[in-house]
This record gives sequence, C-alpha cells and structure tokens, in this order.
Amino acid sequence: MLNYPGRQFHYLLEITRALGSSLDLKEVLQRILETAAEILHGQVGILALRNRTGQLQVVAAYGFPQTLLPRFQPLLEDIPYDRTETGFRISREDVLERLRLVSEATHLNLRQVVAIPLALEDEFLGIIYIFRTSDRPFTVEEEYILRTFADHAAIAVRNARLYTELQLERNRLRTIIENSADGIMILDAECRVEVINRALSRMTGWPPERARGQMGGTVLHLENATGPDPCEKLRRGEVIREQIYREGDIIRPGHPRITVGVTYTPVFDDEGELQYIIVNVNDITRFREAEEMKSTFISVISHELKTPVALIKGYAATLRREDVQWDEETIREGLAIIEEEADRLTQLIDNLLDASRIQAGGLKLEMDEVNLKDLIERVVKGFRMQTAAHEIITDVPEDLPPVWGDRERIRQILSNLLSNAIKYSPRGGVIRVGAWAEGDYVTVYVADQGIGIPEEEQANLFDKFYRVDSSLRRRTQGAGLGLYLAKALVEAHGGRIWVHSKPGAGATFFFTLPIARSASETDEAD
Ligand code: ATP
Ligand code: MG
Repeated sequence: MLNYPGRQFHYLLEITRALGSSLDLKEVLQRILETAAEILHGQVGILALRNRTGQLQVVAAYGFPQTLLPRFQPLLEDIPYDRTETGFRISREDVLERLRLVSEATHLNLRQVVAIPLALEDEFLGIIYIFRTSDRPFTVEEEYILRTFADHAAIAVRNARLYTELQLERNRLRTIIENSADGIMILDAECRVEVINRALSRMTGWPPERARGQMGGTVLHLENATGPDPCEKLRRGEVIREQIYREGDIIRPGHPRITVGVTYTPVFDDEGELQYIIVNVNDITRFREAEEMKSTFISVISHELKTPVALIKGYAATLRREDVQWDEETIREGLAIIEEEADRLTQLIDNLLDASRIQAGGLKLEMDEVNLKDLIERVVKGFRMQTAAHEIITDVPEDLPPVWGDRERIRQILSNLLSNAIKYSPRGGVIRVGAWAEGDYVTVYVADQGIGIPEEEQANLFDKFYRVDSSLRRRTQGAGLGLYLAKALVEAHGGRIWVHSKPGAGATFFFTLPIARSASETDEAD
C-alpha cells in the first residue's frame, strides 16, 4: 500500500474539510488543484470541467498569469479518452504532443505532464493537469496520488450539483407555496407554525414572520367551526392518521367575515412518526353567500310573487262570475287593484332584472347633465299622490349645479328612498327631501320620522334581500332589493350612500352624485 508522508495526509485532511464546508465550488477546486500541484512538485496546473455543451472549460488555474489561459486551448479541445473497467483513461501520447504546443505558445517551459480525468460513476466531468518545468517524469505512485485528488474534485462537483438542485427545488416549492391563491400553512408535529403563505397571511392578518412559532390555532382561529380541531386532538394525546376537513369563519374586527374550508393533511416519516401537518385554507365565502342567497331568493320571491298573483287571480275570478251582477263601482275598484298588483309585479321583476344585471356587471348608464332640482320636484309630486298621511317637503337651493348622471337611474334611486320613507313611517309625518353642493359633489338626502333602524342593522341594509326584522317588516311587502339597487346605482355614478338613524326617531338616507363639469370647464381642464 501507499505510504502517505505526514504532509500529504495533512493536505488531504484540509481538502476533506474544505469539501464539507460551505465554500463555493470554484474555491474548493482551486484549493484541490493548488494542493495537488504542491504535493506533486508541479509548477503549473489547470483543472477544467465540461460545460453544458460538453466543452472543457478551465475553472481553476495555478502557477501562471491569467492572460496565458487561452493558450492552453490545445489541452482542452477534443481530448480523446477511453473507458476502461477502472474508469476513464486519457491517452498519454496524445497529451504529450499537445503539451509541446502549449509549452511553446505559453513560453512556460512545460516539460512533464500528468492528466487525470474527473469522473462520477460513468460520467466524464473534466480533467486535472499538473505540469513540471523539470524533466523528472511523474511516477505511477504520483499519478495515483493525483487520482485521489481528482476523486475529491469529482465529489466537490457532485456536492455542488446536489446543492444547486436542492436549492432550485426548495425555491420552486417556496414559490409555489408563496404564490398559491389558497392559504397554506405548514405546522410541525407540535402544531407550531413553520410557514404561512401570503394568501393566508392576508386572510388572517398575521404577518408571516410573526406567525412563525405560534400555535396553528392562534394564527388560524376559526369561529363557528364544523368538527374538531386536529391540533386540539393532538394536544389530548390522540393520533391523527387521516386528512381532516373543517369549515369555519375567520372573524377580524374591521374586516368582512371570511368563510373558509380547511384541509389538514398529516405527513409521516419512514417510522410512521408525525412530521408535519399541511394546512390548506380555501376561501369559500362566496359559495356560502351564494348558497344563502339562493335560499333567501327562493323564499323572498315566492312570497313576493304569490301575494300579488293571488290578489289578481282573486279579483279576476270574482269579477268574472256569471251568476252575479256587479255594480260599476265594484268593477272599477276590482280592476284598480288588479292594475296596482300588476304594477307591483312589474316593479319586482324589473328590480330582479336590475339586480342580476348589476351582479353580471352589465349595468349601463346613459350619462348626461341632470337638473336635480327639477327631477326631485317631479318624483316628489308623484309620491304626494300616493299618500295622504305624509307631508313631503323639498328643500333644494335654486342654484344647485347640475349633476353628471343617468336621469332615469337617479329617479330610481330617489323613488326607492321615498317609497321606503313612506313604507317605514306608518304613522305618517314629515318627509323632507333636499340637496346641497359641496366640492365636486351634490349630496341628496331623504329624511323621515318613521320607525328608524337599529345601529347594528345599518351596515347590512344595503345587502341584497336584506330586510330588518320587525313587526312592521312582517306587515309590509318588499323583497329587500330597493337599497341594494340604490347603492349599486349610486356607486356606478361614482357616489356614496349612507344612513343616519336612531330607532324610533326616523331615518335619513344620504347619497352623493358628481357635479357635471360644464363645457367651458372641460375645455379649461383639457
Ligand atoms: P323593496 O324595496 O325591494 O320593495 P324593502 O323596502 O324591504 O323591499 P329595501 O328598500 O332594500 O327593501 O330596504 C331594506 C330594509 O331596510 C327594509 O326592509 C327596512 O327594514 C329597512 N329600511 C329601509 N328604509 C328604511 C327607512 N326609511 N326607515 C326604516 N327602515 C328602513
Ligand atoms: Mg324599499
């Protein structure tokens, strides 16, 4: 066996250490080359690796100025090598001939060379060359030593590749998790958060760096949850083997409620020990809402449609009876009711169509300058005829500037607010409709002295099909669409709508519309 002198052993130790450290590949290879040259008493050395296209490329050089590097080309191009049972072999004669060319080109007086292939299993990775400027040839033993260095270099290349692959894989995984539209959280076996992604951070309001190390149930806290929390189970010492699905609400003050479907997937190691729990969080708010909406829709519509249809049918059947001779007065009354109920049906159908148009984003406005004072007076006049119990007063300044909007849609907003003001002040009273201009907007209000709206209900009024529960509500008809439509229409104009109210003390609804910029102003702005 070979007897390594102490110095060589020391060098090898150092290289082994370098391989284990986090130095980059180039640095490790440079160290291997330098050490090999010193031990073999070589004055010059190069280490070349095959690049992607199979060309040899120098990655470490020793004992000569960088500028001479291109002149080593003959030793890098089309080097013939064989595969033997013990590995790759480079033809010595061929290398010697190329050596002469390189020596002449570089004036480095290179007299002896040893070339050892770097190989990983059956892949030819590159070559390490050590040159001498003396005539002393390399012995078989020295060649053997260099082979050890070449093996180390090959290991360094493999480590670097594995490391790069690992890094790539890790980055890819991180990118997938980070950018997933669903919330993702990875918990350790104690249910502590290791990772949460951007989507979940947004849903829960927990910044990722603060979430790390917290208990999973603290970061993802579910209200109204269905089924048990798997982390709770683990805490009680139970084992979880299978995927668990739960639904629940994420509730944060000042934010809309989010309904989520959460899948917990336990991941085990080879010994069957729990390693991680992968938590997938799906925002199902819209499904839930759609489901609730569907059932509300069906109940509201069936109720709201049935009443007028029943009335129409009842009156029509009565008037048609052949065995009775109706007087003119009765006939007129009956027909008036049929007409009224048919109007209500039309109104309801129009509202429903508008609502679905808004939802589909198909609401079109025909914009023009609108004189609000005029419009308000006209709408109010119509409503005065419908009620005797209410006094409707208008309060609009003469010089109110025109607004920019769709006249018919603004009429619809006013009608919805006025019909509510009448409907929800059953004891009558004053209804005041007014407007004032401020900045770029006109604010319109409709104030009544009716039953008012409890504070906690005010946020929901503008939701589709929403009606405040009260004894009056049960006595009045309505689909809960009026305010939803009013809000959508106001917002389509670029305005806002809101309410001030106290139960028992009436309600005032406000909305804004943009002031029309007159032609001269538009010219100035342009
Ligand atoms: P629809 O307008 O579709 O015929 P609706 O009047 O019930 O039905 P909205 O106009 O959307 O529906 O009003 C929603 C709910 O808000 C009403 O059911 C009522 O409870 C409450 N509300 C609206 N306006 C007033 C008001 N001026 N005073 C008191 N409560 C009101
Ligand atoms: Mg209404």
